[in-house]
Amino acid sequence: MNASSPRSTALIVDASESVTTLLASYVRLAVGTGAETAHDLHTLRKLLQDRPERFFVAAVDFELPDADRGEAIDFVLGHNIPVVAMTASDVADREAFIDKNVIDFVFKSSASEIENATNAIHRVYNNRFIRILVIDESSSYRHYLRNLLRMHEYQTLEAESAEQALKVLEDERDIRLVIVNDQLPDMNGVQLINTIRQRYNRRELPVLGMSQTGDERLPSRMLKSGANDYLGKPMVVDEFYCRVAHCIETTEYIRLMEESATRDYLTRAYNRRYLFETGTRLHENAKRGNLTLSVAMIDADEFKRVNDTHGHHVGDVVLKEISATLSKCLRQSDLVARFGGEEFCVLATGLNRKGALNVFERVRGDIAAMPVCVGAATVRITVSIGVCMSLEDSLESMIKRADEALYRAKSQGRDRVVIAAQRRRATRRPARP
Ligand code: GH3
Ligand code: MG
Ligand code: MG
Repeated sequence: MNASSPRSTALIVDASESVTTLLASYVRLAVGTGAETAHDLHTLRKLLQDRPERFFVAAVDFELPDADRGEAIDFVLGHNIPVVAMTASDVADREAFIDKNVIDFVFKSSASEIENATNAIHRVYNNRFIRILVIDESSSYRHYLRNLLRMHEYQTLEAESAEQALKVLEDERDIRLVIVNDQLPDMNGVQLINTIRQRYNRRELPVLGMSQTGDERLPSRMLKSGANDYLGKPMVVDEFYCRVAHCIETTEYIRLMEESATRDYLTRAYNRRYLFETGTRLHENAKRGNLTLSVAMIDADEFKRVNDTHGHHVGDVVLKEISATLSKCLRQSDLVARFGGEEFCVLATGLNRKGALNVFERVRGDIAAMPVCVGAATVRITVSIGVCMSLEDSLESMIKRADEALYRAKSQGRDRVVIAAQRRRATRRPARP
């Protein structure tokens, strides 16, 4: 990252050089951005004279040698830079600073508190990539929420009605949170949350419901209709930030857990467990005549030689590249799994014999044409592919037949595709060419 590009640097202000050094190195390592430091208000003023827009966040000590009542915090906030305030003790003015949009307060009594400051900086940095849709009929309240969210560096989108909101959700990708206020011109909040939940589940799109406090049953109605969380208005700003971050983080944890349960850690292809779970469903569907199913076994040729010549770590990079090329050549609905070692299994739907041959020839050709460069080493790799297109009684027997075809591809000289001979008609439905 270019440290001088806009908003790519963290600013760290503390009287103690050991604190600034420690925090700056944590930030460089963990967040991966640049960090600049100051030890008093005088130096801070100088730093902010020129291009203050390079700072995306500042961690600022409440007490500096030449400013011991939080003046440095006010000064940085005046430049629209989000502030993580640091104090050696609990200051009486904590609430006053929270109201001024200090994004977090950390007590730097121990190394773990310094880590908390790094985490807060990391969060602000990540927020820049998070898009939140704010749905409220009132433009002034949308404006208010937008400003609060931007203070923590979130990106925001807005809608004033349910219809507009659903259109935004359809048109825009990567919205990570929807804030739904109850009163909308064309629907109430509960109806809108119900409609959202018909299209996206709680993990795909978290919803934070909001309403004026008064109707005691509304919070539970919003939660039951699918809101991940609820906040009554008027709200405490600090609580708003906590609930927003909590909704987003919880969903992200669940996504990561799901990913680690279904994906291979090295290649990010699906793991064997996922292959058999989902593959069995696809196979059952194919047996009901709903789709055609092709099973391909793909094995890297003479891979042991790659490890022996260039080392295991180069072999690992080659496996990642093979996996990435497979995903690139195949459709999103096809399933790419690491079967084990240097062997992958692909389940592709809707292909006839000619289509399957084309697709897997392209896979073979793309891998053969792709040099993998790791440091000084350039590795060329080929794969052999066996494909089973006839619908067998079980997924396991299709895999076995694909494996036999793969064995023939190996014995015929490698770097080729062999399709297992057709034993019976695979489908009752027309297949895509
Ligand atoms: P063939 O063309 O007959 O398939 O020959 P091959 O060398 O690819 O087959 P063999 O089964 O003899 O060797 C497979 C090699 O794959 C040996 C094993 O160390 C390597 N391998 C398996 N998993 C991994 C891995 O995760 N990383 C690396 N780097 N190598 C792996
Ligand atoms: Mg091999
Ligand atoms: Mg093998």
